[in-house]
Amino acid sequence: MSRLRQTRLIHARHKHARLSHAALVLATTLLASACATGGGAAGSDTANPAKSAAVEVDVPSIQRPSGETPQWWFRDGAAQAAERGAMGGRAKNVILFIGDGMSLTTVAAARILDGQRKGGPGENNRLSWENFPATALSKTYNTDSQTPDSAGTMSAMATGVKTRAGVLSIGQQPMRRDCAGAQAVPMLTLWELAASRGFATGVVTTTRVTHATPGATFTHVPERNWENDTELTDEARQAGCIDIARQLVETRFGNGPDVLMGGGRKNFMPVSERDPEYDDKVGERLDGRDLVAQWKQRHPGGTYVWNAQQLADAPANGPLLGLFEPDHMQFTADRPRDGAGEPTLAEMTRTAIARLKQNDKGFVLLVEGGRIDHAHHYGNAYRALTDTIALSEAVQAAVDATSAQDTLILVTADHSHTLSFVGYPKRGNPILDKVRGSSGEDDGNGHYALDQLGLPYTTLSYSNGPGYVGASAQQPEGPKRFQHTVSGVQIPKNGRPDLRNVDTQDPDYLQEALVPTAAESHGGDDVGIWARGPGSEAVRGSVEQNTIFHFLLQSMPALRAELCKAGDCDGNGVPVTLPEPATFRE
Ligand SMILES: [Zn+2]
Repeated sequence: MSRLRQTRLIHARHKHARLSHAALVLATTLLASACATGGGAAGSDTANPAKSAAVEVDVPSIQRPSGETPQWWFRDGAAQAAERGAMGGRAKNVILFIGDGMSLTTVAAARILDGQRKGGPGENNRLSWENFPATALSKTYNTDSQTPDSAGTMSAMATGVKTRAGVLSIGQQPMRRDCAGAQAVPMLTLWELAASRGFATGVVTTTRVTHATPGATFTHVPERNWENDTELTDEARQAGCIDIARQLVETRFGNGPDVLMGGGRKNFMPVSERDPEYDDKVGERLDGRDLVAQWKQRHPGGTYVWNAQQLADAPANGPLLGLFEPDHMQFTADRPRDGAGEPTLAEMTRTAIARLKQNDKGFVLLVEGGRIDHAHHYGNAYRALTDTIALSEAVQAAVDATSAQDTLILVTADHSHTLSFVGYPKRGNPILDKVRGSSGEDDGNGHYALDQLGLPYTTLSYSNGPGYVGASAQQPEGPKRFQHTVSGVQIPKNGRPDLRNVDTQDPDYLQEALVPTAAESHGGDDVGIWARGPGSEAVRGSVEQNTIFHFLLQSMPALRAELCKAGDCDGNGVPVTLPEPATFRE
């Protein structure tokens, strides 16, 4: 018996003592809902598949946060999905789209920019996922952080278990960077489960494929920055920790991802090798490993590509590795300037689906618009919004390439940011412009609305970040421009700048920031979830972020059956027990 299995049994026994209370609560809840639905219940149940599929899972009540364990998070997430009816889903495939840092404010502003670019006023426009029938709110906090990061949040969505900020798909017990501790608590991911049981899997992003969000699908580390071997500490190396790039290529869950696309080439290449696209760049690995060669060896029928043309020319089947930049891929706004040519997120999405679809069992795919977050950190709304529009186009490509009868598409963000959408701009006012007012708060004559100093201001601004108006060592006092790597900030001598003659719609303009931080920060507010396809009826209400894993898993009967075979399901077939990764590893 493994140590983990043992711990789990102890936990299960422990839990029993507390169950009577939980059962009482449950009974009361059931009674209450039975009364509420009244006589018409039967009719409305058939009309509402989610309601008829609702399954109750008992969750022990615990002390928060001291009683939280991976086992508890898993069961609680399972309960939240099951009580909403996710078990009623009959999905063959699931696709998870993540807009990294795509706050609800980002969605609202991007929909307006997109609509205005199409010639309309903008507000009535819809991004692709805003046509989906189901929505919910996701609570994003990490187990140790009120405002989360991408590593802890994607781990929650990938494994069904909330954890710390900064770690990838491990339990919350070890501290960040504790290698030995991390190795004792790997959490099985949805992608690993699928790959190990013969389903097709894909991971597509615009960041380095070793970055937090894509990394959490097939790797387990206590430090998200361990992307290549040079970033590990000696202690970590000695304790047996392996970098993220190597884990992605060497994963022992099936053959790993059948499709892996994004940036991050440098983490796969040895220093002795020159980058194919940039003469002045080489690989970053110091362990001598050529992971691209290693990947080819492991996938004899596979294709490796590093530019858009090669991707277009690649054979239509077999495994695919695409590494389109040494670092992150370009922002959508900067793509035209890329030397070798990069595919769009929509093109990568289409390619991935076409390949994964060839597996008759079904597939699990992650597609991340990963640089919405980076643009926000730079304090540049233009790039954040244009990358959000690119994500909308990628989601539309997935809608067009799949059937709502057999494919669940779920769109969400990992966390929020500090972008604000404020003032009383009139209908159709350009979203990146200064506010032209229509309310009593402003002058109402189509002129710029003025603050108490008599100065105009933009509709969009940030609470913190590099857009602070004081002088820095890099840029003079006043409006700042992309890319502003901040140091030596000073208090502004002249207060707010006069924006009358500043083009705030310029792609490089940085929106004003209240607090001068080097990078704009994440936000702790909820993010949206939008869904269509089998199981989407369950996506409603306010849920903890780790429930997203359970929405996806419970909606895919063939996949959840694999957990039941391992003994991880309750009497209703709901996977409620934390799976043991070793059971699924080769
Ligand atoms: Zn971020």
